[in-house]
Amino acid sequence: MIRVGVNGYGTIGKRVADAVHAQPDMELIGVAKTQPNFEAHTAGERGYPMYAAIPERSPLFSEAGVELAGEVDELVAEADIIVDCTPSGIGAENRELYETHHTPAIFQGGEDADVADVSFNARANFDAARDADYVRVVSCNTTGLSRIIAPLEEEYGVEKVRATLVRRGGDPGQNSRGPINDILPNPIKIPSHHGPDVKTIFPDLEIDTLGLKVPATLMHVHALNVTLEDDVTGAHVRQLLEGENRVYVIPEGMGIDGAGKLMDFALDAGRPRGDMWENCVWGESIGVNGRDLYLFQAIHQQSDVIPENVDAIRAMFDLEDQKTSMELTDRTLGIGISGSPSGFAEQARAEFADD
Ligand code: NAD
Repeated sequence: MIRVGVNGYGTIGKRVADAVHAQPDMELIGVAKTQPNFEAHTAGERGYPMYAAIPERSPLFSEAGVELAGEVDELVAEADIIVDCTPSGIGAENRELYETHHTPAIFQGGEDADVADVSFNARANFDAARDADYVRVVSCNTTGLSRIIAPLEEEYGVEKVRATLVRRGGDPGQNSRGPINDILPNPIKIPSHHGPDVKTIFPDLEIDTLGLKVPATLMHVHALNVTLEDDVTGAHVRQLLEGENRVYVIPEGMGIDGAGKLMDFALDAGRPRGDMWENCVWGESIGVNGRDLYLFQAIHQQSDVIPENVDAIRAMFDLEDQKTSMELTDRTLGIGISGSPSGFAEQARAEFADD
């Protein structure tokens, strides 16, 4: 049993905590928070021991009626591994704390790549994290791109990727972010930093990316053009992507014409927090012209990286091989949409419970 602590309990941290809690080979020993807000109360209801991330703020927790198990230092000392889910830049500052206690750690994609020894995506480079002490799970966009590039690279070879990323302005709770009524080239410099981030996973890949920000909170949408090394058919690519459990090829006839309906779909199916862990590729958008492949995909930024954090733990502790780890993560969380799409999450979890 790997004893896992989560430092930073916001959008990503609370999801990672739930995912770790659901694993048969991991124990969630506690979460660290800076303030006793609504998420702290929910964590308490779930029975997660709470640690103060900033010791001077400990009294705020008792005043708010949130029981503390201790301070973050104690959590780090007790844990076999910490998943750092603090805001961009804070993770790098925390590395010293983890090193002091000789506790391995996972950082998130908001950190620079040099925060860790390895940048990680379960589908593309699982084995690179074996026995590493510090690993960075790449960002939501890089995770989404890596899950598509890996099978294309293996099946056909990739000559060049060009991707336009239409990015949500902020998460639903980030009411200070924008734009509210604008369409921003962002970053305005072309190509964007996203391509180099993908190259932390595929060092030899040719890739150019462009980014925009729009007044939306639901998901990112990517327009992809991949020049392959072989001539392909759209049907063949579709079949390939349909074989990937963390990619959902949206069938024609589902009436899902955008991110809004995808989020409704996840909520209707009873997914926790309405999460959509899979890349969502519109089947109708898969088009081929010679060696050029085109497609649209939507990425749920709040949840696609969650299974990757779980798999990174297994890789770092050499617990399972790539396939076994990804399958276990997917079964325990209910990831994968095949067969009847209604109630898919409940169905997957029920099957796991019956085992
Ligand atoms: P968030 O702001 O929702 O949550 C961060 C949490 O950490 C908050 O609860 C905050 O109070 C807490 N915190 C702040 N300082 C802390 C400290 N010193 N110690 C402990 N906790 C502290 O942020 P998030 O969206 O969950 O992002 C976390 C990381 O995940 C970032 O690197 C981000 O780039 C990355 N990420 C975010 C998304 C997304 O869409 N939200 C997607 C993929 C990756």
